[in-house]
Amino acid sequence: MNANLLQTPIDYLKGVGPNRADLMRKELGIHTYQDLLNFFPNRYLDKTCFYKINELQRNSAEVQIVGKITHLKSVEQKRGKRLVADFVDDTGKMKLVWFRGQKWIRENLKINTPYVIFGKTNWFNGLFSMPHPEMEPVEEYKKQLRTAMQPIYPSTEKLAKSGISDRVINKLMQQLFIETKGKFIESLSREIITELKLLPKAKAVFNVHFPQSQELLTKAQFRLKFEELFYIQLQLLIKNMLQKQKIKGYVFDKIGDNFGEFYQHHLPFELTGAQKRVIKEIRADLGSGAQMNRLLQGDVGSGKTIVALMAMFIALDNDFQACLMAPTEILAIQHYNGLVELCKNLDTTIYLLTGSSKTKARREIHEKLENGEIDILIGTHALLEDKVQFKNLGLAIIDEQHRFGVAQRSKLWHKNKIPPHILVMTATPIPRTLAMSLYGDLDISVIDELPPGRKPIKTVHRYDANRLKVFAFIRDEIKKGRQVYVVYPLIQESEKMDYKDLMDGYESIAREFPQQQISIVHGQMKPDAKDYEMDRFVRGETQIMVATTVIEVGVNVPNASVMIIESAERFGLSQLHQLRGRVGRGAEQSFCILMTGHKLSNDSKTRLETMTATNDGFEIAEVDLKLRGPGDIMGTQQSGVLNLKIADIVKDNQILKSARYHAMQILKEDPNLSLEKNKVIRFTYAQVAKHKNIWNYIS
Ligand code: ADP
Ligand code: MG
Repeated sequence: MNANLLQTPIDYLKGVGPNRADLMRKELGIHTYQDLLNFFPNRYLDKTCFYKINELQRNSAEVQIVGKITHLKSVEQKRGKRLVADFVDDTGKMKLVWFRGQKWIRENLKINTPYVIFGKTNWFNGLFSMPHPEMEPVEEYKKQLRTAMQPIYPSTEKLAKSGISDRVINKLMQQLFIETKGKFIESLSREIITELKLLPKAKAVFNVHFPQSQELLTKAQFRLKFEELFYIQLQLLIKNMLQKQKIKGYVFDKIGDNFGEFYQHHLPFELTGAQKRVIKEIRADLGSGAQMNRLLQGDVGSGKTIVALMAMFIALDNDFQACLMAPTEILAIQHYNGLVELCKNLDTTIYLLTGSSKTKARREIHEKLENGEIDILIGTHALLEDKVQFKNLGLAIIDEQHRFGVAQRSKLWHKNKIPPHILVMTATPIPRTLAMSLYGDLDISVIDELPPGRKPIKTVHRYDANRLKVFAFIRDEIKKGRQVYVVYPLIQESEKMDYKDLMDGYESIAREFPQQQISIVHGQMKPDAKDYEMDRFVRGETQIMVATTVIEVGVNVPNASVMIIESAERFGLSQLHQLRGRVGRGAEQSFCILMTGHKLSNDSKTRLETMTATNDGFEIAEVDLKLRGPGDIMGTQQSGVLNLKIADIVKDNQILKSARYHAMQILKEDPNLSLEKNKVIRFTYAQVAKHKNIWNYIS
């Protein structure tokens, strides 16, 4: 196909006037013939199937019916006039309703003439009705070129109002295929097409718009989804490759005393297989000569800290320093205490720097960092300040990544002459499928195994009406010496109300447990007061912690074994999972109780059921992704994933894997895409790289 022809402005297509062209540009982003070609249906309807009026179900599905209008009249209403028609077939009667375009309809619709109508039905006052049906006289209907699977294109309200219906798009598409003679350049290599038995390009685009059979439609969709995902993966992989070539990293080739000594003699427990594997991956990165940019994912409690420490030892063994940054002071202190304990038999100098470090201590730290006396610095954002200069920083580790922005991360890059290695640790499980497409340019390690002997947290769902039983349970646990969290939702828009919920909850708990010491922590408290309360709980001086979600991240109180989540239906899945992760850290059996009222939406029910069914963060993340779609999952907004035109990141997981695999194989054999057989791919890729949105090129 002549690529230039596809660049023709959409105005030139027969049937597109200036008005339509304008709408198509504004509402659908369709500027050229090519854009129209790549405007894919989002679903298909089986239009071989006709309903009788007496077969209609009250589920407001889209149906196709043959019948006649017997009567047409205007009805005055408070909110304006509407046009109502009686529509009958040989089994019954229903109504057709129009709120707009009434004049045109009155003038053009024929009474007592057979029509095919199509649309969604509503059930109201004992009759079915169909607002704004698509209608076509049966005579016309028979003449059309149509296929069993009728494509339905994504639309907007404005388009629908302006009469650009599926049928109109369909006609324009027919025109497009006529003008281009349906010939389109192949955009995948012969090798891939043969190996995967893909439809050729032209056949695929034709069948996606005009499916000739269900089988061909499925094949067409597969081919186009594969193509879309393939070029995205190719882009990510090439970006990753270039980054590695471009950004030099310090070479840590010695595995010396610190690492060896600790590994041989001071490991407090046997590492899990997953921890060993991840340490190996990190070791390979650190020795490679390129800067490491690795994301370490591991569910809460999976043991990321020890992995971080082992990585820091490798830096130390090569005469570099390391730092570990946490999002809050409490977490930084916990890391500090934990690491000092782990290193007690080693000659490692570890310091803590936070916002509350006193001036004198700071000065000492600054000095010792610069002269190299400090091996490992642990802290909060305070680490990022310009005054904090290292003698030779080789590795920076960031814990609980989502609290830090990209800008902050890049500050760490400048803490040495060439950027130190970066390891980002997160307990927010990102489904593998998504991670693959989002962070294709970061390397990812996953700890997918919990240390042995953990007792899985028991999670139950209780209704508010059973609160007394829950209180009794709390009492028993406190008697056994345990501590309890009670968490209230805090959603910004209704902050005041939530705050009231929290205070009411606090009071009722104080009444119920007069003998217990109770901490309360929420976002409107001063940091000092917050830390004080948190601290009392950490030290076991209080038995109950009433809080908003501020405790979500990282806090470790092994003695806390009960997590009560109030109004649990208001939390998202990942948040529920994070909150639950605050318990189950000690030797005792832990519990999570999800409290809700009786009224629950379907999604809420699914979330609660998922939580009671599994403790596996990745499984939960997959459900979350299905419920919310990738747009709402952290960090996806800026990524290209949302621009997918035909593939679905959740449903087309298998195709994604295959696309990534093939992209990798090709790059392995031919990193510059210079082989003759990859010419098509090189050409297409060049277009992709130029246009950002991959579908701008595909023709
Ligand atoms: P997280 O990944 O949430 O940061 P931590 O590193 O804090 O997890 O580890 C959670 C707990 O599990 C800690 O008390 C740690 O000592 C313990 N732990 C880590 N790895 C193992 C292991 N391989 N065997 C037994 N316990 C372990
Ligand atoms: Mg941690």
